[in-house]
Amino acid sequence: NGLPKQPPSPSPLRFSKFFQTNMRILVTGGAGFIGSHLVDKLMENEKNEVIVADNFYTGSKDNLSKWIGHPRFELIRHDVTEPLMVEVDQIYHLACPASPIFYKYNPVKTIKTNVIGTLNMLGLAKRVGARILLTSTSEVYGDPLEHPQTEEYWGNVNPIGVRSCYDEGKRVAETLMFDYHRQHGIEIRIARIFNTYGPRMNIDDGRVVSNFLAQAIRGEHLTVQSPGTQTRSFCYVSDMVDGLIRLMEGDNTGPINLGNPGEFTMMELAEVVRELIDPAVPVKIVENTPDDPRQRKPNITKAKEVLGWEPQVVLREGLPLMEADFRHRLGIPKNYR
Ligand code: NAD
Ligand code: UDP
Ligand code: UDP
Repeated sequence: NGLPKQPPSPSPLRFSKFFQTNMRILVTGGAGFIGSHLVDKLMENEKNEVIVADNFYTGSKDNLSKWIGHPRFELIRHDVTEPLMVEVDQIYHLACPASPIFYKYNPVKTIKTNVIGTLNMLGLAKRVGARILLTSTSEVYGDPLEHPQTEEYWGNVNPIGVRSCYDEGKRVAETLMFDYHRQHGIEIRIARIFNTYGPRMNIDDGRVVSNFLAQAIRGEHLTVQSPGTQTRSFCYVSDMVDGLIRLMEGDNTGPINLGNPGEFTMMELAEVVRELIDPAVPVKIVENTPDDPRQRKPNITKAKEVLGWEPQVVLREGLPLMEADFRHRLGIPKNYR
C-alpha cells in the first residue's frame, strides 16, 4: 500500500521485560464508552496492569466502578492536552469525545485533544518505548465518494465545516502517528472505527442508536433525520474491543478499518428498534445536521486478512443487550407501560 516497512524500534525500554513485572497499559479515555469495555477486557488478563487517564468530559467513573481499588488498576484525572509522565509498555489512545453533540460543543477543545493530546501521547511513547494505538474514525473518509470504504481511500472531507474539528483532527492525529513512526521509529497502530454501539453509551449523547433506544423505551417517537435513506453500519462494542486488542498485539501498523459491514438505512434501523422494543412508537422525520455523510459501510477485508477478525454480534442480538442497560439506567423495566 505504498507505506514504508516498519523501522526497528529505538531499543524499547520494555518495563515489563526490564523489571519482570506485569504488562503495564495506559488507556486514555478509558472512562468512556469503548474505553471502559476495553479496560474490562484487559483487566481479565492477570498479567496486565491498567492505568486510565481521563478528564471525564464525556466519560464517567461509574463505567469503571468495579475496578476502582483493584491492585492492578489506577485511575488518573488527566487531560491529554497536558503532558503526562507515566512508565508503560502500551498506550491505547482513545481520549476524544466521539458524539457530534459533544465534539461540536467546544470544537477548539476537540481539535486540541486530537492534535496536542495525540502529540503528547506520542512523546510519551517515544520516551518510554511504548507501542501506541490510536482510535481513529471512519469520519476521516468524510462524505465518501467510494463505497464501501477501503483503507486506501483518501476521503472527501470538508476542512472548514462544523465536523472538521473531529474529522480533520483525527486526520492530523493519524499524520502525527505516521510521522513519529517514520522519524522516531515509534511502534504505532491505527484503527479506523466505524459506528459502534452497546451498553454504557451516554443516553443523551445524540447518536442514533442511543437516541432510538431511549426514545422507544420512553414511549416517544423515533426521530429519523431526513432523508432517512442515509446508511450506517453498527458494530457491537465487544467485537470492537476484540479488534482493538488484536490490532495492538499484531504486527501491522494499520490503518485498519474496524466495523460491522451490515448496512442499514436510518429508516430500517428505526423499524428494527420498533420491532424489538415497542411497535407502538411512531417514527417522525426531523431536520438533519450539516455535512451528514449519506452512506457509510466498512470494507473489512484487511482486518479479516491481517487480524483474523470479523464481527460476531448482529444488530438484533446486540440491541437487546444495550436495551437491558438503558432500561436499568432510565429506571424503566420491560413491560412497564
Ligand atoms: P466517549 O466519549 O464515550 O469516550 C471518550 C473518553 O475520552 C471519555 O471518557 C472522555 O471523558 C475522554 N476525554 C475526552 N477528551 C479528553 C481529554 N482532553 N483528556 C482526557 N480524556 C478525554 O467515546 P467513545 O465512543 O468511547 O470513543 C472512544 C474513541 O473511539 C474516541 O477516540 C472516538 O473518536 C473513537 N471512535 C468512536 C466511535 C463510536 O462509534 N463510538 C466511532 C469512531 C471512532
Ligand atoms: N510528553 C509527555 N510525556 C512524556 C514525554 C513527552 O506528555 O513522557 C509530551 C511533551 O510534553 C511534548 C510532546 O509529548 O509536548 C512531544 O514530545 P517530544 O519529545 O516528541 O517532543 P519535544 O518535547 O521535543 O517537543
Ligand atoms: N440520526 C437520526 N436520528 C437521530 C440521530 C441521528 O436519524 O436521532 C442519523 C444521522 O442523521 C446520521 C446517522 O443517524 O445519518 C448517524 O448519526 P450519529 O450521530 O449516530 O453518528 P455519525 O453521524 O457520527 O455516524
